[in-house]
Amino acid sequence: DTFADIDLGDSLNDNIKNRCKYVKPTPIQRHAIPVALAGRDLMACAQTGSGKTAAFCFPIICGVLKLQSPVPYGRREMMSYPLALILSPTRELCCQIFEEAKKFCHQTGVKVAVAYGGAPIQQQLRSFERGVDILVATPGRLTDMIERSRVSLKKIKHLALDEADRMLDMGFEPQIRKIVERLDMPPPGRRQTMLFSATFPSEIQRLASDFLSNYIFLSV
Ligand code: AMP
Repeated sequence: DTFADIDLGDSLNDNIKNRCKYVKPTPIQRHAIPVALAGRDLMACAQTGSGKTAAFCFPIICGVLKLQSPVPYGRREMMSYPLALILSPTRELCCQIFEEAKKFCHQTGVKVAVAYGGAPIQQQLRSFERGVDILVATPGRLTDMIERSRVSLKKIKHLALDEADRMLDMGFEPQIRKIVERLDMPPPGRRQTMLFSATFPSEIQRLASDFLSNYIFLSV
């Protein structure tokens, strides 16, 4: 019952052990990671403190490592084409996920970026110029960047919605639906989607049935 038992690859395993000092997976990690690595969609009921960030980040990082084509050093891109998108309700939560994801991605070559409202957009866009593999964003700021033609979702293969119940409480449902509509493609190119929520009311069940296909339900 260690991370080494889950097939995450050497670079990620090194970071889990040496940078994060995680010894063994939490229950949500133990159950969610193998399911997500197998490519399945996932709906997970998990609270803050359960280790849910790593539960959706590790499979995303493994997926991105398989897809990634390195951007030559020094090349600047006006349009970013992330391979994975993590949506989260607030600036604070985005920053927490971003900081954790950077630790997980250390020396893997996977590039993580963050976008949230209430801060200058130009600075965030400048940080995208060396490439973005995984984008952590609030729905409002992401929509703004898409409308400015600075972010394209057409290469997204992994989508995680964190604290989905809070995003709905904050009124983000129309924006989230618009974002998800932009990345729909037919199978087998279809994205993998993971929905995390502390609660599972009917609005979340409806999101799950609209956004997920043939999904596994986990509750910890
Ligand atoms: P989260 O539920 O993702 O907000 O994580 C809560 C806290 O638990 C964070 O500070 C993580 O760094 C930490 N954490 C996550 N997974 C593990 C693990 N397997 N072992 C020890 N700590 C962990």
